[in-house]
Amino acid sequence: MSVDTPEQLEALRRVGRLVFETIAHLRGAVAPGMSTGALDRMAAEFLTARGARSGPILTYAYPGWTCISVEEQVVHGVPSERRVLRRGELVTLDVAIELDGYHADAATTVPVGTVDRSRSDLVSATRSSLGAGMRAAQPGATLRDVGAAVERAARTRGYRVFRELTGHGIGRAMHEPPTVFSWPAPEADVALSPGMVLTIEPMLTAGRTRLIAERDGWTMSARDGLPSAHEEHTIMIAEGGPEILTQG
Ligand code: MG
Repeated sequence: MSVDTPEQLEALRRVGRLVFETIAHLRGAVAPGMSTGALDRMAAEFLTARGARSGPILTYAYPGWTCISVEEQVVHGVPSERRVLRRGELVTLDVAIELDGYHADAATTVPVGTVDRSRSDLVSATRSSLGAGMRAAQPGATLRDVGAAVERAARTRGYRVFRELTGHGIGRAMHEPPTVFSWPAPEADVALSPGMVLTIEPMLTAGRTRLIAERDGWTMSARDGLPSAHEEHTIMIAEGGPEILTQG
């Protein structure tokens, strides 16, 4: 969507802040022995108490309030009581919600206990990549500039982006046009103008970017089995640069 009124902006800030708070709540509970299903139940209670609904359930009848992807799972990991976190793993908390008719979406990858150097570097590179994309999201720039900045930052650190997985417009629905590529796609010749609301969400790997669909029909995993990381914010393009809606 494109923001037209101060009331719309306030509503987006409210839902964005709640996404941030939910992720913080879950991050505090990530520990060896915790199941992804238990994390999802925590999110459901937290959000229900605040009058919010799950974007994935609302939009896709997805089998979980949140998407929680572990290690080689890249995105849309289905929470499960059987998937118990182990020390040294990476887990991605991806939270998209609706509050009072407005949507916001963010993700972050967190370590379970202490992780090895390769995993912590992957997470830090993914954050840098998102940061580079957000800095490029200036009025007058294009989505291709954003994708170029995201991928350049990843490559500089020796990583690849999963090109098939993209960010998106958001606001009145969870997924709206335009597609926000994490690479300089030819079709990303879309100028950014103040008021536009979108997500930027690079997913990085040190390995190959071939994806496979798991048998649950939702989870997308890296075919080579290597861990991946995912960082996402919902932003609004403003005159002075992007406003990050999904932060505290
Ligand atoms: Mg998203």
